[in-house]
Amino acid sequence: CGIIGIVSINLKDAALAKMTLEALKSLEYRGYDSVGMASMDSSHLEIRKSVGNVEQFERIKSPLTMKGNVFLGHTRWATHGEPNDTNAHPHSDCNGEIAVIHNGTILNFLELREDLISKGHNFKSETDTEVIPHLIEHFRKLGMDNFSAFKRAIEHIHGDHAVLAIIKGDNRIFFSKRNNPLIIGLGDEMNLISSDVWSMIQVTNRTIPIGDDEIGYITADSVYAEKLTGEKINLKSRLIVQQF
Ligand code: GLU
Repeated sequence: CGIIGIVSINLKDAALAKMTLEALKSLEYRGYDSVGMASMDSSHLEIRKSVGNVEQFERIKSPLTMKGNVFLGHTRWATHGEPNDTNAHPHSDCNGEIAVIHNGTILNFLELREDLISKGHNFKSETDTEVIPHLIEHFRKLGMDNFSAFKRAIEHIHGDHAVLAIIKGDNRIFFSKRNNPLIIGLGDEMNLISSDVWSMIQVTNRTIPIGDDEIGYITADSVYAEKLTGEKINLKSRLIVQQF
């Protein structure tokens, strides 16, 4: 299982879709049962996903026709819900404005799910992950800004995770980590975030490791993180120039 997020200023559409696919291929060695991608620009957000390997996904879902300057990619190792197209990531909210990919498990997802269903949310999959986009949607509806809504959603989930989320109309990739790997890659007019440094080496050797219980976001030319407790983090002081 693996996750990758890329946000760029000058690369988009097929070029960025290709980069995301290449990253997913480099994550294959970790094992997985399904593949999915999300793409986004200022006016649209799209998700394509399928059970099977990256090669099958490429053949069936034609991801190189996806449009946008923000991409997410995921390989799933199912823990909750059988491997099928619906349970593959990314997962979305009721209105299709949020896309979330996740490695790990959410121990309290059943109670969160019941609560969200009682508030009117419709669930499509059997995964634990799907509570995250619905929680974000719920907190946005209460009037929170996107980062606050993401943070509040993460505060509600128990268990190990690496999570990436994108929200329509917002050019940030939100991230959170607890006991699953997550690393930022600093590119040229482009930033990446991945579960595995090997998925980024074609693009950059400048990386920043994320610690546990840290939450933040990347744009194409900036990175931000804080501890879940609120304390700001100086990410640049952690910069590592990888020697390959
Ligand atoms: N628990 C999630 C699922 O079953 C994520 C699994 C993973 O780490 O890929 O969909």
